[in-house]
Amino acid sequence: MLGLLLFGCAVLYATNMTSRSVVDSMLHSEAKDVTRGWLNRAEWELFKLTEVFATGSLRAIDVDHLPDTAPGDRVFRYELYDRTGGLIYSTGVGGLSAETPPRSFVMASVTAASKELKSSLRDGYAAKEDGRTRTQYALVAKPYPPLGDSVGTIVAYVDQTKQAQLLTKSLKFVAAVTAALILLAILVPSLLAFFKIRERWKAQAHIQYLSDNDKLTGLLNRSSFGRELEAKLELRRESGGGIAVIAINVDRFKDVNDSMGHAAGDSILRCVAERLRTNIGAEDVAARLGSDEFVVALNDVRGPVEIVGTVQRLRDALGSSYWVDGQEIPCTASMGAAVAPDDGDDVATLLRHAALALDRAKKVGRNTFKFFDRDMDMAFLRRRERANDLHQAIDQDQFNLVYQPQIRLSDGALASHEALVRWNHPEHGNISPNYFISIAEETEIIVPLGEWILRRACLDAVSWPEPRNVAVNLSPVQFKRTSVYELVARVLDETGLAPSQLELEITENLLMWDTEAVLRELTKLRELGVDIALDDFGTGYSSLSYLSRFPFSKIKIDRTFVRALAHDQRVNAIMCCIVALGRSLGMTITAEGVETQEQAEFIRRLGCDLAQGFLYGYPVSAAESAKLIEASKTPPEPRPESSAA
Ligand code: C2E
Ligand code: MG
Ligand code: MG
Repeated sequence: MLGLLLFGCAVLYATNMTSRSVVDSMLHSEAKDVTRGWLNRAEWELFKLTEVFATGSLRAIDVDHLPDTAPGDRVFRYELYDRTGGLIYSTGVGGLSAETPPRSFVMASVTAASKELKSSLRDGYAAKEDGRTRTQYALVAKPYPPLGDSVGTIVAYVDQTKQAQLLTKSLKFVAAVTAALILLAILVPSLLAFFKIRERWKAQAHIQYLSDNDKLTGLLNRSSFGRELEAKLELRRESGGGIAVIAINVDRFKDVNDSMGHAAGDSILRCVAERLRTNIGAEDVAARLGSDEFVVALNDVRGPVEIVGTVQRLRDALGSSYWVDGQEIPCTASMGAAVAPDDGDDVATLLRHAALALDRAKKVGRNTFKFFDRDMDMAFLRRRERANDLHQAIDQDQFNLVYQPQIRLSDGALASHEALVRWNHPEHGNISPNYFISIAEETEIIVPLGEWILRRACLDAVSWPEPRNVAVNLSPVQFKRTSVYELVARVLDETGLAPSQLELEITENLLMWDTEAVLRELTKLRELGVDIALDDFGTGYSSLSYLSRFPFSKIKIDRTFVRALAHDQRVNAIMCCIVALGRSLGMTITAEGVETQEQAEFIRRLGCDLAQGFLYGYPVSAAESAKLIEASKTPPEPRPESSAA
């Protein structure tokens, strides 16, 4: 802007200077014309004038015949000089003064013979004549050459006042208009360019904001949070102190999202972000890493007490009710913290360790907080190693299936077998499915593994004598990634197992996911003739509404319930209810993990239909299962308690 102003001033100055020199040159030529006209009109008596110049006196001429210089004439004074520059006659008063010639001074055609005159006219000139300033008149020197040679000089003073004013005025106007036009021609494109650049800056700033911030909540995103944290760690390395990175998850956010819709989920996330923002210090930063994953970096923390204080404040804030469309939604948050420098001094390590602590907090129970400790890291590294091993385990034939019998309580007959996968790791031996199934789910290896298990179980089952029934566990991840219905239909078709001989066991975790899609899949499977069992009932959400909404043919009551039966009256009462409800809905009830005669007695009295547990048989190979089926044609007595232990 300042540059533009300076440029404008320069343009004005240049136009002014140009107009002045144009005025000068116009006055110059105009003065010459006026003098020429005056000389013509004056009708000098030529011979007499020649004599006047030759003699240097006015004797030869009648002074009365000299031209007048009346007031109002443009030529208001004139002088006659001889060839040496000597003044012969002047109509004015006063001599030539030592003033610098005026701007509009014009000295024309002074011949070589009049050198002295020329210099005297130049150097000595009246600044004021009759009250006029030197800018108001021009002086025109005309040589008088009757026979070709100059014999003298007539100097005329031409009044320029009006012309100068007029010309200056109009030229100033023209100059001003020109300057304005030039300025306009420069200013308009410059302003346009300026606005364009400003828009571009704004757009760039907006793009930067979008690339640094989460669109939904306005918090920092993962990469900008990483940069902020790195800068804080850098400062910390110089000045000491601690930085706590707290990973935060909204508990059961998926449920809210699924049950109330994504708009409600979004508004909760925005609200969480706002609560985080208002509950951290000015030097702390909060970010959203994805879905319901948030993270906060607390700057310059002095110890665990301070961190716990902040965590408590955040938990209180995040744990108070959310209101969406006038509806109150209770929500809590789980948190895990890693503190620099003890738990790591770089962004990746701190984030990973905070996530591990959060993971532990979620496993312990919702609405909890955990600090990171080194054991978590070891466990994490082990899990990562196992995840790598899992990739090749199918190809290297490291999996096999074992089958655990399920007994009909009414007559002790063998009703079915549950297929349970085993991983025989080349280095670490047998690894429990409780451990590796969750890794296979995280890495989605469960998809090919689950397909292998289903096919293997069906193939084994068709090789068994009648009555043959097999139950196969399915993971929720299989439902997310593939159409389980299509897979089951294909495998049944390939293996020749009858759909009625297959039972699929699913857990409640699956039902908390996209319930409509799951319901469609399960309904199609039921229509195909496959049974669906709700496994581990009592360990999860245990929503009774699931029982009526989903097409289960069986409920498998988890072994933790069975174990508590004998000494907890409340469990007894709950199991009574579940059994009654299941029966009223036409479902078969299986009790899992039956280990003792006492438990067997309890579940029989409660009215369970089937039992599974070490009391009736450990998981055995497919060949063993075939033998068991054969033998079961004459129903065995339950094994004595001592042999089951
Ligand atoms: P689950 O489906 O509830 O399987 C029953 C688990 O209880 C089996 O453990 C079985 O060995 C164990 N069990 C049976 N009777 C008793 C008993 O009397 N006492 C005790 N303490 N335990 C008993 P396993 O084979 O270690 O499997 C654990 C879990 O891993 C399974 O629980 C299931 O959720 C999962 N799993 C096992 N095989 C597969 C599979 O092929 N696919 C999938 N997706 N998950 C599987
Ligand atoms: Mg099961
Ligand atoms: Mg179970």
